[in-house]
Amino acid sequence: MKKLIAGNWKMNGSLAANEALIKGLLAGATTPWNCNVALCVPSVYLSQVVALTQGSPIAVGAQDVSQHESGAFTGEQSAVMLRDLGVRYAIVGHSERRQYHGETDVVVAHKAQRALASGITPIVCVGETLAEREAGVTEEVVKRQLAAVIHVNGHCISEIVVAYEPVWAIGTGKTASPEQAQAVHAVLRAQLHAASAQSARVPLLYGGSMNAANAAQLLAQPDIDGGLVGGASLKAADFLSIIAAAS
Ligand code: PEP
Repeated sequence: MKKLIAGNWKMNGSLAANEALIKGLLAGATTPWNCNVALCVPSVYLSQVVALTQGSPIAVGAQDVSQHESGAFTGEQSAVMLRDLGVRYAIVGHSERRQYHGETDVVVAHKAQRALASGITPIVCVGETLAEREAGVTEEVVKRQLAAVIHVNGHCISEIVVAYEPVWAIGTGKTASPEQAQAVHAVLRAQLHAASAQSARVPLLYGGSMNAANAAQLLAQPDIDGGLVGGASLKAADFLSIIAAAS
C-alpha cells in the first residue's frame, strides 16, 4: 500500500502564502512521489488550493465537515459542498475540535458517515491526552473513539483513514517514539480487522510533531501507513522531506 502524507495547515495561511507554499511543493516534485499526498486547508481556501493543485499529485482535504446534510447550521460546510469543490478528504474528530468545540465520539462518527455518503474520505483522528497515557488508559481511549465510528458506519469503515494522534504530541515538539506509536497502531489494526477483514487495510496515519528528522523511523513501523502533519506541513522543504521519507 502506498503511504499517505496529509498536511494539516490548521488556521494558517493567506492567499499569497498558500500560493508560494504550493508552488514550492510542486517545484520540489522533481521525481514522481511514490506516496499519496494531501493538504487539509482552511475552508475559505479550499477553492484556491483545488485550483492551484489541479492536475498535480496533491489532493485537497478539509479540516472538518458538518454532521448534517444541509439547512440551518450557520457557519458549517456540508460534505456535499466539499465534494462540489473537488475536495477528496476531510479530517474529522481532530483533538482540537474535540477539545475546543465539544465534539463527542458520536458526533465524530456521524461526521465520518456524512463524508462517506458524499464520496469524501474521512481522516478520523483518535488519541489520548497526557493524563490518559499516564493513567494507563491509552488503549481503552483510542478503542472507544474508534468503536463509535465503526458502530455507526458498519461495513463502510473500510473506506476511512484513521490517524492516531496522541494529544500530548500535537504541536508540542514531543513525538511518540516509533515503538509507542506502533504499539497503538497495532491495537487499532486489530480492532479494524475484528470489524471486517477488509477494514484491516484501512490506512493508519501517525500524527504528532512528525518532522523531517523523525518521519523515516516512524514510517518504517509495520502498522504506520503515513502521517498527518501539522507544523511541518507549512514549510515546503520540511514537508517535501517527509514525502521523500514516505516514497
Ligand atoms: C496535527 O495538527 O494534526 C498535528 C499532528 O500537528 P503537529 O504536526 O504540529 O504536531
